[in-house]
Amino acid sequence: MLHSARVATPVTADAEVVWSACASLLDDVLASASAAAYDVVGIGCGGPMRWPEGVVSPGNMAVWRKFPLLERVREAYVGARPAVLHNDAVALAVGEHRWGAGRGSDHVMGVTVSTGVGAGLVLDGRRVDGGTGNAGHLGHVVVDPDGPVCSCGGRGCAEAVARGPAIASYAVGLGWAGAATGVAVGAGARAGDAACLAAYTRAGRALGIAIASAAALLDLDVVVVGGGISLAGEVFWTPLRVAFDAHAGWEFVRRCRIVPAALGEDAALIGAAALALEPPLVGSE
Ligand SMILES: [Zn+2]
Repeated sequence: MLHSARVATPVTADAEVVWSACASLLDDVLASASAAAYDVVGIGCGGPMRWPEGVVSPGNMAVWRKFPLLERVREAYVGARPAVLHNDAVALAVGEHRWGAGRGSDHVMGVTVSTGVGAGLVLDGRRVDGGTGNAGHLGHVVVDPDGPVCSCGGRGCAEAVARGPAIASYAVGLGWAGAATGVAVGAGARAGDAACLAAYTRAGRALGIAIASAAALLDLDVVVVGGGISLAGEVFWTPLRVAFDAHAGWEFVRRCRIVPAALGEDAALIGAAALALEPPLVGSE
């Protein structure tokens, strides 16, 4: 990592305002001498999307529906360079497989838990795209058929329970009076607040169930979990592991290791570079 910068997503109903924020961010990064020369462009974005065209409709950003993100970046920044866009959780999975906690394993799921819950897959050493480039949406695996309605239109998805805003609203419903964010509720849980602990226990349990289901389906070696909510510590990891152990029956499922992302908060960003360096296939190193 030579240089990095970030900006908050503007709260707006205008898709172009969000694009302008992205463009300003790219301008700022490229103004740094260390980042000014680049050969390929890799982009991670929340799904779902039309792929590989890079027309995105991120579930947690209602302002962008069928937004031609890759085309916009190409027009302004890419020129003749190769450029790829994929789901940011796919990027995380590829990055962790190549350089992080999934290194040396050829059956890896990368999971990100933040504003949404996303995942990407590397199976038999290869990135899995699925029929439309949208494989790996672990956040929309059903963990409670009678659970809350999800932004996707379904009900009881892992994301509807475990995403940061869902954790926060659940804690508030139980009486939490602090800031209504997943990170603040995580701090509350670590301090022993009962409402916050209940919210994290519920979220960790949902993810443990979803991961056990995925491991049974895919015979995974390792599941790498990143994203801001995963940084909350044992209040997040303990209920996840307890639920996984309760629902992982067969030995081939139980052997799956669940570990934190080694590339940290930048895992998806670094993974987008990995995608751009080897778009068709990614092999273990
Ligand atoms: Zn859903």
